[in-house]
Amino acid sequence: MADIIDGKKISARVKEKIKAEVSALKDKNIEAGLAVVIVGDNPASRVYVNAKKKACAEVGINSYEYALPEDTTQQELLDLVNILNSDDKVDGILVQMPLPKHINENDIINSIIPNKDVDAFHPVNVGKIMIGDYSFLPCTPAGVMELIKSTGISIKGKDCVVIGRSNIVGKPMSMLLLHESGTVTICHSKTKDLKEKCKSADILVAAVGVANLITADMVKEGAVVIDVGMNRLADGKLCGDVDFENVSKVAGYITPVPGGVGPMTIAMLLENTLTSAKIKNIIK
Ligand code: NAP
Repeated sequence: MADIIDGKKISARVKEKIKAEVSALKDKNIEAGLAVVIVGDNPASRVYVNAKKKACAEVGINSYEYALPEDTTQQELLDLVNILNSDDKVDGILVQMPLPKHINENDIINSIIPNKDVDAFHPVNVGKIMIGDYSFLPCTPAGVMELIKSTGISIKGKDCVVIGRSNIVGKPMSMLLLHESGTVTICHSKTKDLKEKCKSADILVAAVGVANLITADMVKEGAVVIDVGMNRLADGKLCGDVDFENVSKVAGYITPVPGGVGPMTIAMLLENTLTSAKIKNIIK
């Protein structure tokens, strides 16, 4: 039976450390601030934004919410980002995705100055991740790395399989595993023999968005299985991409959904905001 990697517990430890650092900054009269921008009334986005604001409050980071109506124009949003780019109390800018269809998400991402881009989606930060010289890591892959490290298993030389190649999860995830000297295979919807590829993995990261795609017969005995997926079932329950009940009988370590990657993603956002505040104030 697999050991369960408790993302809630691990993220609580990370948040305690951040809280102590934020408090030390306050002793030097430095406050860290995160601007959270939400456009429209997507209920899932509202839940995420509230969770991020709550997490900021827990560790003492100031959060500033900018809730804009659904019919906000792209130019109005760009204007707000511009203001936040030069607002000294703001160390991080997070524009909650998805945006309404009439707004080009890439244009908005590209308008955030890279040193406040705490999601690490800006091409400058993406490029820095590629060459392994970065200030911020994208929150979800960074959280996954912490969860893998918590098992005590070294990534070096391991066969790692990442399912999913999105810009926000799959691609940066693969790069981080590669930086740690994993041998990385990236799978996607056109991959042949997904089962065989997954079965070769010592470390398997599923970031797909298909409930129960990863079944027990696709997993190597003793593997570390990280489930990034967040899928809402017809009965309203949240589940991952991994058939948790059966895969946990084969894997060595496994993350649950909820309570695995999700809480770590938020903890990493706080860490990036703190890092930005420290860089601005030239504190190591
Ligand atoms: P995405 O942009 O939709 O990417 C999904 C990826 O999965 C794509 O690369 C797609 O391949 C691949 N895929 C789809 N069906 C597949 C299949 N049957 N076999 C193999 N690969 C398949 O999604 P995302 O933004 O990366 O998010 C992935 C999941 O993680 C979602 O459930 C999302 O809600 C969740 N998520 C969770 C957190 C968290 O904090 N826990 C954060 C971010 C995302 P193609 O490229 O070929 O289309």
